[in-house]
Amino acid sequence: MSLFENTIRQMRNAAQIMKLDPHVEAHLSSPQRILEVSVPVHMDNGSVRVFKGFRVQHCNARGPYKGGIRFHPQVDMEEVKALATWMTMKCSVVGIPLGGGKGGVIVDPRELSERELEQLSRTYIRAIEPLIGPEKDVPAPDVYTNPKIMAWMADEYSMLQRRNKLGVVTGKPLSVGGSEGRGEATSQGGMYVLEEALKELGKNPSEMTVVIQGFGNAGANVAHMMEDAGYKVVGVSDSKGALYCKEGLHPREAISCKMEKGTVTECSVAGIQKTGDCCKVITNEELLEVECDVLVLSALENQVTKDNAANVKASIILELANGPTTPEADEILREKGVMVIPDILANAGGVTVSYFELVQNEANFYWSAEEVQERLIRIMVEAWQAVSETAKKHNATLREAAFIVALKRLEEAMLARGW
Ligand code: NAD
Repeated sequence: MSLFENTIRQMRNAAQIMKLDPHVEAHLSSPQRILEVSVPVHMDNGSVRVFKGFRVQHCNARGPYKGGIRFHPQVDMEEVKALATWMTMKCSVVGIPLGGGKGGVIVDPRELSERELEQLSRTYIRAIEPLIGPEKDVPAPDVYTNPKIMAWMADEYSMLQRRNKLGVVTGKPLSVGGSEGRGEATSQGGMYVLEEALKELGKNPSEMTVVIQGFGNAGANVAHMMEDAGYKVVGVSDSKGALYCKEGLHPREAISCKMEKGTVTECSVAGIQKTGDCCKVITNEELLEVECDVLVLSALENQVTKDNAANVKASIILELANGPTTPEADEILREKGVMVIPDILANAGGVTVSYFELVQNEANFYWSAEEVQERLIRIMVEAWQAVSETAKKHNATLREAAFIVALKRLEEAMLARGW
């Protein structure tokens, strides 16, 4: 089953429970628009390579399409369609007036020079330019794209429009229209939601051990936030493998070590572990099955599957990544009583602060870090409450409940517009 089919299956489960209008369901079962583009780049060695890129616009019933751009060698159209659909649901769960979109280029950016990467980013934006803009479709960073790339993209689009249109992408550096708090927003939003979940369960962060898969924007930020909040982080990982320290590790030391050595697997050194001498390098597969209370998935999709779900020891899974748990794994986890805080709620802090960034760009008036945090926490806590109450009302999982909350708002908007 493709990732997009998984997404549709998740939506249908919720649609059945809430008795969604069949026309609305049909509408949401396929993207409104799909664009495939060629992205030629003059390489440093004099050759020309043509990369393939995509932009998928899933649904704009509640506002302009919104969603990141992924640069990854394995990205494909089915994946981008799935990610765009989740964006529609995510914006609706947190109640922000945006729709869902997503983009991708099939490339390993780690193999490109800085000049090649800049040309790729600018050429991709020229290719999708007719479809994007602050009122139409607003991209952002995702896996292997970052604020520097967003600055190039905003600049290219602004040059094409012959005026500053910085709100065309979000996740930019502060110096060119970025928002305070955007870099940490995905992780921060996840922290707020997890805190609410623990309150309901009557648990305290200081009693909880945590394993974090993926150590990029989402994973590394949540690691140090968790340490500050009193959780004990016992394992972290990146694409090369995982580091497990039974007695706990220092996330900030692990982040500096990864920056220096390129991977956490080179970091089983003094200073990383909290006590003793017990860090070991294990595989990403093994990491998902170690003893812990909270498993934070912040890498890629399809990580917890029917093959390993039964072996997960955590009682809570926080999905900062999109689609890290397959529908078959969801069934197994439900039977085991594992609380899965779903992606469309857990990682929605990122798009929420992206929305704040867009609003600030359009108004050309900027907020303080405190104002951003205040608004973010309110939105995330309200979203948690809506999802948690819906789950109880329908005896549903949090994923089903999050989809129900999202679909209700989408249904209302679509019917009001006469779709
Ligand atoms: P990133 O590029 O900053 O980091 C990705 C991390 O995952 C890297 O540490 C990489 O080494 C690691 N990784 C890659 N393949 C792996 C594998 N097979 N096993 C373990 N680790 C692996 O990306 P990010 O922005 O942190 O995004 C991570 C996830 O969070 C993605 O699913 C993304 O869609 C989702 N997400 C990100 C944001 C955001 O604001 N950045 C918002 C919402 C959702």
